Formats: sequence, C-alpha cells, structure tokens
Amino acid sequence: MQFFFPDSQDLVDPSFDFETEKRSETRIRQRDDLYAHEVFVKPPYDGMLVSKAIVEGTGASTGRYTLGQQRRFSVEGVKEFLRIPKGMKVMGDCGAFTYVKEPTPPVSVDDVIRFYVDAGFDIGASVDHIILAYKPEWDFNIPGIDTVPEDCRQRQELTLELAREFIGKCRKGKLPFEPLGIAQGWSPKSYARAVSALQKMGFSYIALGGMVPLKSVEILQVLEAVSPRLSGSTRLHLFGVSRLDHIEEFSKRGVVSFDSTSPLTQAFKEDHDNYYGTDRRYSAIRVPQVDVNVQLKNRILSGEVKQGDAFRLESGCLEALQLFDKKRYQRERLIELLIEYQHLYGGKRNYAAEYDEILRDKPWKECKCEVCQTIGIHVVIFRGAERNRRRGFHNVFVTHQRLKKIRSKITRSTPSQEN
Ligand SMILES: [Zn+2]
Repeated sequence: MQFFFPDSQDLVDPSFDFETEKRSETRIRQRDDLYAHEVFVKPPYDGMLVSKAIVEGTGASTGRYTLGQQRRFSVEGVKEFLRIPKGMKVMGDCGAFTYVKEPTPPVSVDDVIRFYVDAGFDIGASVDHIILAYKPEWDFNIPGIDTVPEDCRQRQELTLELAREFIGKCRKGKLPFEPLGIAQGWSPKSYARAVSALQKMGFSYIALGGMVPLKSVEILQVLEAVSPRLSGSTRLHLFGVSRLDHIEEFSKRGVVSFDSTSPLTQAFKEDHDNYYGTDRRYSAIRVPQVDVNVQLKNRILSGEVKQGDAFRLESGCLEALQLFDKKRYQRERLIELLIEYQHLYGGKRNYAAEYDEILRDKPWKECKCEVCQTIGIHVVIFRGAERNRRRGFHNVFVTHQRLKKIRSKITRSTPSQEN
C-alpha cells in the first residue's frame, strides 16, 4: 500500500529562527527551502502526486506555480524540480476538483499527455470529470423509471470517453509513463461498471475518483461492488482518501495506493486535532501574530484593545511556552496566560481543556521525527507558516509510520490466508 503525497508547493525555511522569528537574509525560497521529503532522513511518503491544475492551472483556475516556476518545471522535469529522492514515483493528474463546476473539463487529452511526457512522470491519470452526487439508492431503480440525473450519466460517459482516447494515444505513441484510468460514479454499481469499462480498454491501474466526501463505509461498499470485477492484474488507487483505520480492508479489495493532503492541512486548516500523537490527536496552541491576525488588528484599530497589551501578551505567551518546555514554567499558569490572550484576540472557542491535555502529555517530546526533535514545543504552536507547516510535515510522518506498521501486518497475514 503506497501513500502518494500531493504537491502544493509546501516548503519550510530551514534558516527560520524560532526564537527571534527571523530568516537568513540570503535565503532564496526555491533554492533553500525544503520539501517534506528533504526535512526527514527518510521521506515520509512513498510517492508524490502532482496536478496539472496546481502547476499550470486549468481553465479559469490559476495554478500555484509562478510563471518562472512553471518554466523551470518544464525544463527540469518534475523529479528535478521537486528534488524527488531516487526511486520515488511521481503520479500526475489533471486536478479535476478545480473545474468541477464547469460543464466539461477545460483540458484536452493532448494537453495532459504533453504535460506528463515533458515533465517525466512515472504514472499519468486520464482526464476526468467529478460526479457531485453519491446516491447508492439509485442502484435500486424501479425498471422503466430512471432517477439518475442526466448530468451524472454525462460526466461518467465523458470520463470514460476521455480515458479511451487517453489510453489509445498512450499506446500509439508508446509513451514512457504508466496510464492510470479514472473511474467516476454515483453508486457502488455505477463505479463497478466504470471500472469494468476501463479494464476492457486495457487499463491495469485504475483510480476511483470523487471519493473525498464519502464515509468510509460508503467507500467500502463501492469497493465491495468493484473488487469482484477486477482481473488478476488490476490494481486500484483511491484519490484523496487516507482512512488508515480501513487500509487493511481496502487492501483486501484490490487497493494498492492512495493519496491525501489531510495530514498536512489538518495542522492548520482545522480548529481541532491539529497535531497527530501516536494514539490520539491534539489541538495546537493558538498564539496568533498581533500584526497579522485580522480580527486582532481590527480590535486594535477600533480602540477595543491596546496595541501594547496585545504585543505584551503575545510575547509573554511565546516566552512562557518555551520556558514550559524547559520545565521552568507551570502548566496552570501557562494555560491562564494563553486564555487571557485568547480573550484579547477574540478567539471564539475556549481551548483551556485541550491545552491542558497537550501540555500534560507533551507528545512532541515522545515523537522521534526530525521536526519535533529539532524545534520542540514550537511544533504545537499554531502561528505562522513555518510552525504550522512543520506540524503538518510531522503529521505526514506519523501517518506514514502508521501505514508502515499496517503494511507489515498485511504482509505477515497474507501467506497464512493463502494456506
Ligand atoms: Zn514529530
């Protein structure tokens, strides 16, 4: 079971000083900043997923890469650009989520093939169009009454047509990457039909798209319907899904790989569970920057909060956290201080109980990853990209470690099942 990590240009600056919050003056972002696979001794994932939409943009959406970066990407190729470790595979896709609202994909098969070939991808996904509904009950229509909306059928048909064109061109041109066919559906049976069709076209690696909003039990229902149709050599990929609790069940039903950004984004896009411990997740400790936090800036401008008080509490919290990490500050006093700052910046959620848990367990002290070992308590402070992204990298590391454990369990149990 391989974990592909999606690139969205998330890098950290190794020159960032956590005490002074200053950077090296000679730092050049693209040259000096580090990807997650450069931060850890061993990469915290097995491969990377790069979307054409993130690099070049698609249709109305612009990419994350500057024009200069795009140029360098196409000259150097994906592996040199992302400084991918030797042997690590890179998968490419269109990034269908960016054009989900458009009637048809704004990218052509020739466009994506050019993108994959020029940049030297190992695996290239066909062009797809996400279906926005998931209704298993549509599998049980009364004969003669069809409740499946036309739009769903059209998107599935279009995705299959584009896959047929894609694999035809890959074969004809003997292209140097493995084609990955994408199946879209709205129910277990409709996914199974799409997978069968893709197999007939000649795909032996098939991705199930549109799974992100589905509950784990729904994903399993789809896999239940799909797996009996798989021929011996067909492998499955799950787009945007990392449900480690179900990986064993996924694996039994033909899934060999998945990708997900959620371990990274959970670190800074959610209001809880931002730091992955070994057995549980913790909320990170909020110390927003006075001069960046919009809410706090407004409160200062309106005279509600004195700027001097804000700065004093902000630096007081940071100092106390660092002293606490050196066992020179009491937990209760630290929480009081953090909550006082929370009142001042107008935090809506009261984190006192959550802060008590994380400060009591000190999970960053137990973690063996390079981030926690190097920056200590800063990894659990919710503040600015350098800390938040590193916490995300730590989560990716923890996810991969957990996956590796599950993997060894799967390999150990496979021979006994065959006997
Ligand atoms: Zn860690």
